[in-house]
Amino acid sequence: MKTIVTDSVKETAKIIKKGGIAAFPTETVYGLGANVYDEKAISKIFKAKGRPGDNPLIVHIAHKKHLEILAREIPEYARKIIRQFFPGPIALILKKNEIVPDVVTAGLDTIAIRMPSSKIALDLIKECGFPVAAPSSNLSGSPSPTSFVHVLQDFKGKIPCILIGPKAKFGLESTVVDCTGRDPVILRPGVVTLEQLKKINKNIKYQSRTLKIISPGQKYRHYSPKAKVRFVKRETSNLKRGTAYIGLNKKFAKGFEHVNICSSVEEYAKHLFSFFRECDQIGIKTIYCDKVSEKGVGLAIMNRLMKAIG
Ligand code: AMP
Ligand code: MG
Repeated sequence: MKTIVTDSVKETAKIIKKGGIAAFPTETVYGLGANVYDEKAISKIFKAKGRPGDNPLIVHIAHKKHLEILAREIPEYARKIIRQFFPGPIALILKKNEIVPDVVTAGLDTIAIRMPSSKIALDLIKECGFPVAAPSSNLSGSPSPTSFVHVLQDFKGKIPCILIGPKAKFGLESTVVDCTGRDPVILRPGVVTLEQLKKINKNIKYQSRTLKIISPGQKYRHYSPKAKVRFVKRETSNLKRGTAYIGLNKKFAKGFEHVNICSSVEEYAKHLFSFFRECDQIGIKTIYCDKVSEKGVGLAIMNRLMKAIG
């Protein structure tokens, strides 16, 4: 298949409107989008990614009025989250309306909805005129793409269109919040933090790994480079070839073949997936990563690291 690589929102929207799929930039990671109402187009996303059919997609909107079309029963706390964080790197799980095809939600009675803040993503969705269902634009199991270069690595020749734009501002997938119960529950931590959401609803919880899996995506090993991922320890010094380090601590960073010292947890989050991909490209065998405290964005970093370690 010929892959059109373009910076034209119009050209990309045209392909999606005709029932095709296209990768596009957002502030979290690149997405792989299709018309939410077109079942055939949606199934192309699952096929291209090799995504299990029981892992639902996030539906991206550019107008808040589309919330009421896609979802029913929006609780007051969810409305507060929407007022404060839409558009932004957060997806809400709500009860879905009939109009949403079952393939999008993997047969669930609920739907994940997000309004991206990235201008180019919003322009694309507006140009389409309908909500765009889009998971991350990576092959299932590989690290999420934070630059169009990563999308090319996974999908050149396999999808009809890649809309190129800036690198992802945040570099981690959205915070996913279940808003179908009495109180909200974080299913996937992200850049919108538990602490920020607590200010809206003090009863909000983060569903730890031991609890029942509500979000199907959580059961799959994710975000994994080909290299092994390990936490760095003091003893992990004078290392040899084939090892890499990413983290906040300069003093750990000696003796590695490839290093990324980050100046903040935000920078760590932003660089993590692209570092994983760089390491695979140069044949690194083991990537050592700093542990961070599970505060703020640190909770999301530790969640992704635990998944990559497996
Ligand atoms: P991705 O867009 O690739 O980051 O994946 C979307 C994430 O949202 C996955 O972890 C899904 O399991 C989760 N998700 C999407 N829809 C729902 C839903 N209706 N209920 C629970 N989790 C969902
Ligand atoms: Mg994904």
